Amino acid sequence: MLDTASNRPVLPPEIARRRTFAIISHPDAGKTTLTEKFLLYGGAIQMAGQVRAKGEARRTRSDFMKMEQDRGISVSASAMSFDFDKYRFNLVDTPGHSDFSEDTYRTLTAVDAAVMVIDGAKGVESQTQKLFEVCRLRDLPILTFCNKMDRESRDTFDIIDEIQENLAIDVTPASWPIGVGRDFLGCYDLLNDRLELMDRADRNKVAESVNIEGLDDPLLEKHIPADLLAQLREEVEMARELLPTLVPQSVLEGHMTPIWFGSAINSFGVKELMKGIGKYGPEPQVQRAEPREISPEEAKVSGFVFKVQANMDPKHRDRVAFVRMASGHFHRGMKLTHVRTKKPMAISNPVLFLAADRELAEEAWAGDIIGIPNHGQLRIGDTLTEGEALRVTGIPSFAPELLQNVRAGDPMKAKHLEKALMQFAEEGAAKVFKPMIGAGFIVGVVGALQFEVLGSRIELEYGLPVRFEQSQFTSARWVHGTKDAVEKFAQANKQHISYDNDGDVVFMTRLQWDIDRVVRDYPEIKLSATKEMM
Ligand code: GDP
Repeated sequence: MLDTASNRPVLPPEIARRRTFAIISHPDAGKTTLTEKFLLYGGAIQMAGQVRAKGEARRTRSDFMKMEQDRGISVSASAMSFDFDKYRFNLVDTPGHSDFSEDTYRTLTAVDAAVMVIDGAKGVESQTQKLFEVCRLRDLPILTFCNKMDRESRDTFDIIDEIQENLAIDVTPASWPIGVGRDFLGCYDLLNDRLELMDRADRNKVAESVNIEGLDDPLLEKHIPADLLAQLREEVEMARELLPTLVPQSVLEGHMTPIWFGSAINSFGVKELMKGIGKYGPEPQVQRAEPREISPEEAKVSGFVFKVQANMDPKHRDRVAFVRMASGHFHRGMKLTHVRTKKPMAISNPVLFLAADRELAEEAWAGDIIGIPNHGQLRIGDTLTEGEALRVTGIPSFAPELLQNVRAGDPMKAKHLEKALMQFAEEGAAKVFKPMIGAGFIVGVVGALQFEVLGSRIELEYGLPVRFEQSQFTSARWVHGTKDAVEKFAQANKQHISYDNDGDVVFMTRLQWDIDRVVRDYPEIKLSATKEMM
């Protein structure tokens, strides 16, 4: 038996040992460094420094484009599998830039837990807070890593208080730092009564562990100077009195987060965190779906697409759909049903992402992430099953916050542009709308950087220079209602109507007043800022 806290009936051991999670953090807190150390301990890479090459979609456009050119690497970095102890970890990468929040949201629908990395000197930063809120919507369990303890950092109680107050979650210390900055020696492991000492001389060396019998053990005096030891004893006593103790069930329910202190770059505290993910992180969870939920232990295989990456090889126009397995035991070559089109699909060349390489996935279990190369049949939100008409729910599409008209530099190439735009729309890189009257397209994104990235990609991948121009609209809302009601509404408001890439009707305007008017005058229809992908 795995020694894990479980809130579910007993799962088959192969499923029970899966831990599928994402790392959320503010840029620069140390996500990349931590990922690298995870992979190092997971035996997936031989040397630190390999992950760095993957780059991330943040900071500048040129960084992003570099990543685009190296899509092979970025794709394998989108989902990474590795073994640690008796566990199989599936780490799903979240894009770092706030402009890609929609993508991030969808990524978080594919994981069972999140590791929140914060910088010990900075505490909870804006992006951490945003991502945390998204996790909260799904009650995702969160484990916290307070990084960069080798530098001057804030008082430990302050950090914990800040998390408790800003994020409204109980924080329980799993370890306690000894000394700060230059004097940082390591941590006292509160869960196992051990002393973990950091090795400053060798960054890749794993900390030295000293087994001790509680805080009164005289052995401590051998390793910790008297003043720091006195402080440690006092702080731990206070912490034990004032802060909650770890309740595994509360962690699983997302009400409590254990916090480990460490320094990713010095490989310190990382193994303890990994053990914590194994022990307190959840097993693959039940998936919300219509008309019924999907449980991981079901014998039949099912999964859903949470991300699509196109043009990984510009010569082949292939795409990879990232599928989170929701149940069962998948074998390569299986025929699954693509529920949206009701068509069978033979999954003959699925890929598993083993950090440095892509490998053919001979098998996968509930909790795993596999990549399915395809020619566009698989879209975000699609469900695959062994025949049952199930549809995984809760993968949203957000109304874009920025709208622009897009035109091909060469008007003769309008058809090509349409094709390129549709492809990006399916990938989830942008929303594309075709106005009911007039020519051209309106592109909608969540963050301004996406326009630039999109423009560069259309030029690079399709050889089409494009121009973006200010749109007359600033808001888009999906129109819901009976077919007749929607059609009647569209006919009466032609100037404001567009169709999205699924053909759904969208109302566009620049005035809140217009939206209010619709709500008042058309009780039979509803406007919404999100739409479920299906
Ligand atoms: P990301 O933006 O969250 O992926 O952060 P990175 O992993 O790229 O780290 C940002 C910067 O912080 C880099 O210069 C790292 O070398 C540095 N860094 C990461 N972990 C530590 C740490 O434990 N201590 C110190 N002093 N620096 C760190």
